[in-house]
Amino acid sequence: LGTSLRSSLDKLQGKTTLSESDVEEIVKEIQRSLLSADVDVSLVMELSDSIKSRALEEEPPGGTTARDHVLRIVYEEMVELVGDSTELPLENQTILLAGLQGSGKTTSAAKMAWWFSKKGLRPAVVQTDTFRPGAYDQAKQMCERAEVDFYGDPDNDDPVDIARTGLEETADADVHIVDTAGRHALEDDLIDEIEEIEGVVDPDRSLLVLDAAIGQGAKEQARQFEESIGIEGVMITKLDGTAKGGGALTAVNETDSSIAFLGTGETVQDIERFEPSGFISRLLGMGDLKQLSERVERAMQETQDEDDDWDPEDMLKGEFTLKDMKRQMDAMNKMGPLDQVMDMIPGLGGGMMDELPDDAMDVTQDRMRRFERIMDSMTEEELENPRVVGQSRVERIARGSGTDEETVQQLLEQHSMMEQTIGQFQGMGDGDMQRMMKK
Ligand code: GDP
Ligand code: MG
Repeated sequence: LGTSLRSSLDKLQGKTTLSESDVEEIVKEIQRSLLSADVDVSLVMELSDSIKSRALEEEPPGGTTARDHVLRIVYEEMVELVGDSTELPLENQTILLAGLQGSGKTTSAAKMAWWFSKKGLRPAVVQTDTFRPGAYDQAKQMCERAEVDFYGDPDNDDPVDIARTGLEETADADVHIVDTAGRHALEDDLIDEIEEIEGVVDPDRSLLVLDAAIGQGAKEQARQFEESIGIEGVMITKLDGTAKGGGALTAVNETDSSIAFLGTGETVQDIERFEPSGFISRLLGMGDLKQLSERVERAMQETQDEDDDWDPEDMLKGEFTLKDMKRQMDAMNKMGPLDQVMDMIPGLGGGMMDELPDDAMDVTQDRMRRFERIMDSMTEEELENPRVVGQSRVERIARGSGTDEETVQQLLEQHSMMEQTIGQFQGMGDGDMQRMMKK
């Protein structure tokens, strides 16, 4: 499958305009990949229509090849289809898990707890499954492996009571993850039970846990859970198998929610935060995925990062956030250090950079890796506006990233130094930065 999409794209090599049959062929290959990944037919058709009309109607930006043009449209429309990841603030919260038996709820509860603990929070799992024998032991063991707090009561057969007591008993934790029982199918008693638990727990968000192999069964399930407790996000499990998880998109569509996490194995560390580009690659097939993302990455650098509305020129308008710094660090591998890049800007001459302190732009590989881990432990808000990071947040971030407070402080200092440096370039001619990034 992957190879045929790739060869359709390869045919466009060297072309500057797209014919209708070129677009038809590519759209057909994409349809084939998505349908075999269990994406709902009507979603696939909607996507095909948008890709077709955009590819034929939109004028490729100057200098863009037909292939890059269509790839960018495919990517953007795919991002639209899969959506952004569920927003998950790193703060006190209660998460309720819902889903059918065997979907992976208990495993996912422990995984999420592990994930939050790596972000420097203190999570606890409350196990309310009194239905399945062994549920208590399973959850307890996994939480021990994840090294997170756990509450369950094998002698109590009232899940609602366990939920209530569990939250009291784990009051020291800041993130509570409440695991529930599933049944073989959606039975009324399951729905009643989870509604009661929801009433007692009052979750900040309820996540639906779905096996990647769910296919179109996702629709009815999602509708029922949405109706009874309201679904704010989805976790797709067992993506390490052959299923691509496209059925989950139906659930996302049905619940008007988004994907929060992906489960990729049986151990507590096998969890990934959902991220559109990786998932898109999975849906379109491995080979293309890689090629696609490389292509797209280039296309994005040439224009701008649409995901975050990032424009390299923003750096010159004095808004240099930690996110920009992260991008800059990523880009360094490809473009060379920022000072050299700055030197290439027409009109600036070499001299300007020489006046800067030597270490203003110096981020060594090792520091870079630690900085990246630290930034992974920060919230969106912190990345956008590092000034909100006070002492208690520094402690949390250091804990979550497995570094120390000093390194977190260093990162913040490095950022502020770069910010000042960038500030010196403000007022530079419009388009200079853009032109430079295209090189
Ligand atoms: P629950 O009934 O919804 O609580 O589901 P469980 O958490 O007990 O999981 C059911 C089975 O799926 C167990 O054997 C888990 O080890 C397995 N499982 C859960 N998540 C994943 C995953 O991401 N990958 C793999 N390979 N297995 C998983
Ligand atoms: Mg379970």
